[in-house]
Parts: sequence; C-alpha cells; structure tokens
Amino acid sequence: METITSIVLPDFLPYLLAIFGLLVLWQYHQLRVMKGRILAIDIFDRSGIRMYLYVVADDQQSCEVCRSAHGTVFPPSSVMKKQFSPIKGTCKNPTGCIGFLVGLYGAWPEAHRIIQRLRLSRKREPIQLEQDELMEMILGPWERSISANTDRLSIYVLEAVLGDCSNPKPAMDKYRHALEHAKEVRHMPLIVPAYFRLVELLTRQGQTAEALHFIEQFEKRYKGKKSGPYAPTEKELALMTLKKSHLKNAARTTTLAPTT
Ligand SMILES: [Zn+2]
Repeated sequence: METITSIVLPDFLPYLLAIFGLLVLWQYHQLRVMKGRILAIDIFDRSGIRMYLYVVADDQQSCEVCRSAHGTVFPPSSVMKKQFSPIKGTCKNPTGCIGFLVGLYGAWPEAHRIIQRLRLSRKREPIQLEQDELMEMILGPWERSISANTDRLSIYVLEAVLGDCSNPKPAMDKYRHALEHAKEVRHMPLIVPAYFRLVELLTRQGQTAEALHFIEQFEKRYKGKKSGPYAPTEKELALMTLKKSHLKNAARTTTLAPTT
C-alpha cells in the first residue's frame, strides 16, 4: 500500500497571508507618506474621476453664457446624464466657444476640499469656483498626490486654458503635450477643444505652418469618424476646414507680397 505523505495546511493560512500582505503594504504606504512622497488621502479609492471641471479660455471671443459657466464643478453622476450640458442655455458665439470639461481624481488637499464641498452641496448640485480658487487648486501639490499620474494630463490642460492668453507659449506646449498623450477614454473630450485652441493660438502668433500642420493632423485623426461621443460635430469639422482655407490664403498672400 502506498503511503501518502501530505502536509495539511491550516484553513486560516490564506487569510493570515492576506492580512500580512496588507500590513506590509500599509507600512510601505506609511513610509512613503512620512517621506512626503504621497499624500495620505483615499489610498483605497483612486480609480476614475471624482469631479468634472468646466473651463473656458480667458478670451474676448467667448460669449457670456459660456463665460458664466467657467469654473463650474460637476459630480460625475451629472456628467453621465444624457441631457448633460456644462452651460446653462445656448452658446451665443456663431463660431462656438472653446470650453473644456476636465475630469479629475483630485487627491491633493486643495482638490480634495472641492470634492468635499461638492459632496456636501444640496442634492449634489454643481458648484462654482472663483478664479483664485481654480488657481489655488492647480498650483497645489498635485504631483505629490496619489492621483499625480491619473490627473497629469488634465492638470496640463487646465494650466494651459487658465494661462493661454497671458502666456501663450507654455500653453501651446501643454496643448501639444495633451494631444500627443491623450490615450485614455477620460482624455477623449479634451482632444477636439485642444486642437481648436492650439490652432487659434498658433494663428495669433503667426505660426501659420504649424497651425496648418495641426489642422491636417485633426482632419486625419477624425477622417471617417464623424459619429461618436468625442468626435467633432459637423459644425466643428466645417469650422476647421474654414480655418484651413483662411490660413492657406494668408500664407499665399504673404508669399506673393512684393518684397521691397
Ligand atoms: Zn459661448
């Protein structure tokens, strides 16, 4: 007869190991917190978006309806609704204003306070931030928070939008970065407005060739993809075509102008 030698493991061993694993993880987290590498907020809830922020470029061309929506914070549950619109009413700008609906996890203190305010607001209504509150949030230590990687692209876009009239060059770099690195679903709503804003700034700076380059990249990106939640609308496609022909005409005129 064959003797079977087997080691009988106690039933509770997997639980014990799991607890041990969590303790090690917790100690590691505490060490990182103590070293100031991460901020001790919401380590267990770091996926997804906890608030959406609507921002409009500080621009004379934006209509009052869109400008009054600047700085509004929405809970994700509102944004998910079918009829959702970040503005109250209809945009009055015939060419459409450029607004960005930026999703954030927001694990650093300044952003976390806003999320708390949003949670405490009656019926989870949107809240409105002043410009200095917006600035305080994006100037906060987001890079040291657990949401640094999640929020990096959104923060770049916010920095660009909030400073693009006074500081167009760094803003243009941030829009370029956003277009190049926007790969995840939560970044998709930022792409079309980023193209429009970048083309606008490049045109104003007289960088016609680069503006044309981004228009062509936009056309290529959305060729044959005229539907879908994040694709440009018919109006936006037509507007970009118009911008392209204006820029091409301007470039031709400059080339043909006599050099005396
Ligand atoms: Zn508008």
